[in-house]
Amino acid sequence: MDVLPAATPPTSPKQPTMRLGAWSAYFVIKFVLLWRGLIGLHALENIAFAAFLMMPIGPLVGRRIRLAIAIPAAMALLYYDTWLPPIDRVLSQAKQLSAFSVTYVLELIGRLINWPVVAMLVLALVLCHIADRYIRVGFLVVAALLVLTLTDSRRLGPPASTPIDTQSAQLTGAPPASAGNPDDLDNALKTFYAQEAKRTVNFPNAESSVPFDIIFIHICSLSWDDLQSLGMDQHPFWSGFDFVFHHFNSAASYSGPAALRINRATCGQTAHQALYSPVSDQCLLMPSLKKSGFETNFAMNHDGHFDNFLTLVRQQGIAAPLVSFDGLTVPLRGFDNSPIYGDLDVLSRWFDGRQTASNPRVALFYNTISLHDGNRYVSGAAAALSSTDSYKPRLEKLFSDLDEFMAKIGKSGRRALVVVVPEHGAALRGDKFQIAGLREIATPAITTVPLAVKIIGPDAKRHGAPAQIDAQISYLALSQLIANLIATSPYGSTGFNTADYTADLPTTAYVAQNEGAAIMQHGSKYYLKLDKEPWQEYN
Ligand SMILES: [Zn+2]
Repeated sequence: MDVLPAATPPTSPKQPTMRLGAWSAYFVIKFVLLWRGLIGLHALENIAFAAFLMMPIGPLVGRRIRLAIAIPAAMALLYYDTWLPPIDRVLSQAKQLSAFSVTYVLELIGRLINWPVVAMLVLALVLCHIADRYIRVGFLVVAALLVLTLTDSRRLGPPASTPIDTQSAQLTGAPPASAGNPDDLDNALKTFYAQEAKRTVNFPNAESSVPFDIIFIHICSLSWDDLQSLGMDQHPFWSGFDFVFHHFNSAASYSGPAALRINRATCGQTAHQALYSPVSDQCLLMPSLKKSGFETNFAMNHDGHFDNFLTLVRQQGIAAPLVSFDGLTVPLRGFDNSPIYGDLDVLSRWFDGRQTASNPRVALFYNTISLHDGNRYVSGAAAALSSTDSYKPRLEKLFSDLDEFMAKIGKSGRRALVVVVPEHGAALRGDKFQIAGLREIATPAITTVPLAVKIIGPDAKRHGAPAQIDAQISYLALSQLIANLIATSPYGSTGFNTADYTADLPTTAYVAQNEGAAIMQHGSKYYLKLDKEPWQEYN
């Protein structure tokens, strides 16, 4: 057996035979990738392709035409079998991809090459080449494809016998199975959104309570899974907060939809597409706080041009001017070479302005992309690091910047609620469906992010240890927590108990979505839906 498809079959053209020949190598490679969980195999399409390759064709010209069709078809079929996003999604993003710097593109290509797998493929091909002297490898390949076609689980969706654990579904707040058809995951998702559409949180009027500011630190690319992969989930940074949430679902894995979701935190979770339709002011976080008595402020450490981010955020009722970058240094450059300013610099500039403003209550929405994939240090020893290698130093810097910022507020004697709420994770580890850094599928590892809230003020005295909360929650619980803190002031000489503020927080079942993929928890399992493919269990 040759390891590469030959331009012309080695057999005599006199008697056309049904042989897979050198194409066996193509399927052997796929079997190895399937075994390693790196691709899913559409068995029916693959066996149809094998049949096309084996069709006995006599004339040389006919075999050459077939080869000309087979090579692009083989590439397309391999792409279809991978977990990579559908090609039309990639093409629609082409304009954005063209903005990537060359260094970032090279870094991404490097991540796609998995050397142990490359070694395994070479070994498999050599073994096949040796085995082909004694047995017909092509015959074994066809037999394996037949077995896979008969047992193809990829296109079956969850088996009809999957027991739906309704009791645990209720306990975790998972979407209830639709009546009479417990396996219909589409219906379960519809029911989830129908129930979410009824949920809202109203902020009480703040004007009668002790004034404090609310500072949202919206961080791109930070999840619990990222923290665990770096051993930083127990970092002392987290012990500085009064409330730490371990199962907060950001419900999106890209910055744009994540920014829309937090800015609509006062209403229940909506489907991805609905994020791009206008909503009533009641569902908008910052206008709701304004109505409650907070002047709204806005700051970012980047210009927000990428993916129309700034415009999207502005459309959520945030009219305040951005804190200026004039005279600030640029420690980082983004994946498209755009400037990224220091978090402490931007936040300190905002705070200095805040100190001279007369409003008793201000709510700041601050967005940072310091941790985004592809960022590079402009100078110093760290400038030589790839963006993967510089993630940890960038995270340590963010922690120290935020610690210093919060200490600064504390020293000033001003009262403030600091809310650390990441957009989504960085996907540092990746999984079998997508390589590290790719966030096309909003998986639990990417969207389970560390939400943490700190109450700062001279008269903020917490009784007992910080609250560590494991309930499955999303933005609505954050809104409710803020509503509770406005309704009953945590400030004063008697101190506060965290439990008084968390007892009634609404749970939200795990559902996360992007344009082309959805993941839903149903009972104790997660299910994934990719575009038009059927639901499949996600592990
Ligand atoms: Zn982001």
